[in-house]
Amino acid sequence: MSTLKNTDKQYVANTYSRFDLEISHGKGSLAYDYDGKEYIDMGSGIGVTSFGYCDDIWQEAVKDQLAKVQHTSNLFYTSPGAELAKLLCEKTGMDKVFFGNSGAEANECAIKVARKYAAEKKGAEYYNIVTLKNSFHGRTLTTLAATGQDKYHAHFNPLTPGFLYTDANDIPMLEKIISDNKVAGIMIEIVQGEGGVNPLDASYIKAVNDICKENDIILIIDEVQTGNGRCGEFYAYMHFGIEPDVVSTAKGLGGGLPIGACLMSGKVSCVLSYGDHGSTYGANPVCCAGAISIISRIDEKLLSEVKEKSAYIFSELEGAEGIESVSGMGLMIGIKATKPAVEIVNKCIEKGVIPLTAKDKVRLLPALNIPFDLLKKAVQIIKEVCAEG
Ligand SMILES: *Cc1c(COP(=O)(O)O)cnc(C)c1O
Repeated sequence: MSTLKNTDKQYVANTYSRFDLEISHGKGSLAYDYDGKEYIDMGSGIGVTSFGYCDDIWQEAVKDQLAKVQHTSNLFYTSPGAELAKLLCEKTGMDKVFFGNSGAEANECAIKVARKYAAEKKGAEYYNIVTLKNSFHGRTLTTLAATGQDKYHAHFNPLTPGFLYTDANDIPMLEKIISDNKVAGIMIEIVQGEGGVNPLDASYIKAVNDICKENDIILIIDEVQTGNGRCGEFYAYMHFGIEPDVVSTAKGLGGGLPIGACLMSGKVSCVLSYGDHGSTYGANPVCCAGAISIISRIDEKLLSEVKEKSAYIFSELEGAEGIESVSGMGLMIGIKATKPAVEIVNKCIEKGVIPLTAKDKVRLLPALNIPFDLLKKAVQIIKEVCAEG
């Protein structure tokens, strides 16, 4: 075993089962191992490196900020956080933003907003948050409680109380839960990512929106994985003409630096007041400078390229040998193959392509700006591997 693997296995907590690949560096959609072997990256570090590895414009923005001030704490004013919040609000019509450092933290904030709004408006007993079975919302004890998958809950009970789970795409079940319980908010992913790249039905998304509006329930859209251009719109909810009260996001937002954001609409923008919430690292200037360089480049041209690349992947893989189905939206794609997903990923890595898995599927989350020639090459290799007997 290599020295790196030995050191990692000896000293890093056993929480990750890693693929057999040691990444040394990368540029754009190409990654390199320590022997210099080249790989086409189809995973972006789980949808994080939106413009690939060490993108020039992103790097310049980060380096510039790094040389000015790397941290101030939220006790003082400094520009990058304010500018990023303004940009996010301009792009979404939301009113205010709270910054944390991860997707889980963005969701924690969203849950706090829903609970405080409901407590003030309807009473403290309106604390329940409804989420979907098979969802994923994070690893903190509260976002684990929000995550509707038992396998993540084992060994960590009791979790934060006040979460109710409903089947995706089942409108009557949701209506019953709401009439039987005192509900503060509903939190959904437009495409369940960790759950296996399952898009919700459009009719269900609209029904959830309507139910929230009719009952004054806070609609939280978890755009941690689907957001920031990933699904072909700035945020995936924008495909459906709905109006969320709260949007949480992270992953692709910082282009590779840790940042999470909770976007609040006018209705809830002043629910949190002084002292209600905080994060020492929140709105870190370097992370925010990186995020501004990413977010400001997610324009109509880029989004239409995302859609074009998505259509190409679907047209190549749907009905191909060894592939049972293809799901997803934009450049967030799940492939159900006849062979186990991990086996396919391992074979792809041998052949110089890095896909990911999501449950029993092979998952693709390439950089939004992956060049077409690299995308084509990677898709052909994935196709070959799926077809091999
Ligand atoms: C990854 C993910 C999270 C958790 O994000 P972290 O940054 O790992 O805390 C939450 N929700 C969704 C939909 C995710 O994909």
